[in-house]
Amino acid sequence: MKIKCPKCKEDAILAMDFSNVKCGSCDLDMSYGEYIKFVAHNVATYSDILGDYTGSTEGHTAGSLDEWD
Ligand SMILES: [Zn+2]
Repeated sequence: MKIKCPKCKEDAILAMDFSNVKCGSCDLDMSYGEYIKFVAHNVATYSDILGDYTGSTEGHTAGSLDEWD
């Protein structure tokens, strides 16, 4: 299925068995596990940037979830 390439934002292809992610627009070619880490890293970066904003609106009701790492 098509997913958004985390590198170039074009269409990447996720294998039907979730084993591999490939992008035809750049050289992205990684396992799904690596893809998840790649995306998670980017999301974590966004979370840092938006940390103050979300913190002021969401409160700290999910504090225990912060310790999953
Ligand atoms: Zn790409």
